[in-house]
Amino acid sequence: MPDSHHDSPVIATPGVEPNAAAEAAPRPNNFVRQIVLDDLKTNKYQGRVHTRFPPEPNGYLHLGHAKSICLNFGLAAEFGGKTNLRFDDTNPCKEETEYVDSIIADVRWLGFDWEDRMFYASDYFQQLYDWAVQLIREGKAFVCDLTAEQIREYRGTLTAPGKQSPYRNRTVEESLDLFARMKQGEFPDGSRTLRAKVDMASPNLNMRDPVLYRILHAGHHRTGSQWCIYPMYDFAHGQCDSIEGITHSICTLEFEDHRPLYDWFIDALGIYHPQQIEFDRLNLTYTLLSKRKLLQLVSDGHVRGWDDPRMPTLSGVRRRGYSPEALRNFCADIGLSKTNGTIELARLEHHVREHLNATSPRAMAVLRPLKVVIDNYPEGQIEPMDAVNHPDNESLGSRTVPFSRELYIEQDDFREVPPKGFHRLSPGKEVRLRYGYLVTCTSLEKDEAGEVVAVHCTYDPATRGGNTPDGRKVKATIHWVSAEKALDAEVRLYETLFTCEDPNGASDGVDFTANLNSKSLEVVTHAKLEPSLADAKAGSRYQFERLGYFCVDSDSTSDNTSDKMVFNRTVALKDSWAKQQSK
Ligand code: ATP
Ligand code: MG
Repeated sequence: MPDSHHDSPVIATPGVEPNAAAEAAPRPNNFVRQIVLDDLKTNKYQGRVHTRFPPEPNGYLHLGHAKSICLNFGLAAEFGGKTNLRFDDTNPCKEETEYVDSIIADVRWLGFDWEDRMFYASDYFQQLYDWAVQLIREGKAFVCDLTAEQIREYRGTLTAPGKQSPYRNRTVEESLDLFARMKQGEFPDGSRTLRAKVDMASPNLNMRDPVLYRILHAGHHRTGSQWCIYPMYDFAHGQCDSIEGITHSICTLEFEDHRPLYDWFIDALGIYHPQQIEFDRLNLTYTLLSKRKLLQLVSDGHVRGWDDPRMPTLSGVRRRGYSPEALRNFCADIGLSKTNGTIELARLEHHVREHLNATSPRAMAVLRPLKVVIDNYPEGQIEPMDAVNHPDNESLGSRTVPFSRELYIEQDDFREVPPKGFHRLSPGKEVRLRYGYLVTCTSLEKDEAGEVVAVHCTYDPATRGGNTPDGRKVKATIHWVSAEKALDAEVRLYETLFTCEDPNGASDGVDFTANLNSKSLEVVTHAKLEPSLADAKAGSRYQFERLGYFCVDSDSTSDNTSDKMVFNRTVALKDSWAKQQSK
């Protein structure tokens, strides 16, 4: 599999104090950072580093955006610079304030701060209009009456040059008049455009007299009905960068072919010139990172919403239990490249696990309970057993877990007829109950269908805490919860949302939804939790011993009522990425 990881590891920059926003973020070296370092050396922008993150508010942010956010905010923070949050809201039809709000929350959650610099491209609509008028006056733009389809026909192809619009040579006065009337709403949608006069023979199709403005009688989420002409992305983006004094305008590789146009507009207008730099988009196996397709998953009901824990949105992975630290570490690890590749999902999960392993308290939970009765344990007795919250982080403290005569263990941890190599509980076998006692299975109870419904054991009172004073060995330690004291919980287990590594559905006529994984969500309804979890708040993360990392879902009710708690499994314990790397 292609892997675009080319960059060298973390390099610190002596003598430069980052601002607080991204201080904690790792600082990987990469070619964009090298450009910034060179520009600082030559004093290209008087020592300034000013970046921006420019989302279009037409969907929720996803993991790809995290790469861009970490890059833009991380670079500025490293060099004492600034980063603006700018909503690129030039397309009124698909944009909504719900998306604006979610984007604000997601960038904050990732750990970055734009201070007082939150802007909208729509803040600059008047300035952009005035600049368009300037280009018409200088003979560099004209109003064109061709339809969208005709414009496409005239544009030519990669191998054939384009044809000039018959309206290209209309007078400046006529274009000025028509453009003003376009703005006043005299013409219907699609009837006219404003186009730049660049070069219909350019090998770069973007330079063949591109459209600057189109007529769209549509309400805008901020400017309402004030405008019925809207600037195209290419005419807006560079000028917005220029207005804001951006030094390094970092975007993804598909804009490389737009850079000549970016430069052309800025030079034609004679305004401050930021530098556009392109890097590779994040692609992940088993994952779609396209707002359009993610929107389709939401609106067609394939997932439970933008923040469904299976979604690669930032709100989805947050709900799933991913930490912002893990995402920042992942983005630093994968680095940047000048060619697009695909990163293994296992590598992202590796970083999620690494951070959760270091920081999350341990607890015991049983997903598929099997009752254990300890026949020689006093009825009604409850013993508080000491348990540490983290094996090598004492600051996370300790707790007690109640031990009682009736417990639950995992169904998988018992076999009536143990296969070869199975060392957990089976008739006649002894196992250690973590933090509890050693128990030996003596008999079992079955229902009419022959299913085992309870296992009977005896315990050895000399093994309190799981110790063996006589030094005898047991091969297995299993987890458990007290049947009397357990909390009920719903636990949601996840697999990848798609069944194949590249779910884009490139093959003819096959829609990407054909690749959806019907087993991506499994709901375990009768899980049992140790009682210390009763007060766990939505978003808290735990390692359930032997089962993986889990996070309290926002559907959870943890107010000690009869309502159930709900947990998401963030990731299982097994790290396939780390395993592969050590081979
Ligand atoms: P999508 O294709 O998902 O709609 P987009 O590029 O249209 O994404 P924008 O809101 O325009 O989304 O993106 C904001 C910024 O995030 C841009 O600078 C864009 O280049 C960057 N970005 C978007 N997707 C990725 C990705 N997969 N990897 C890295 N950066 C990305
Ligand atoms: Mg976009």
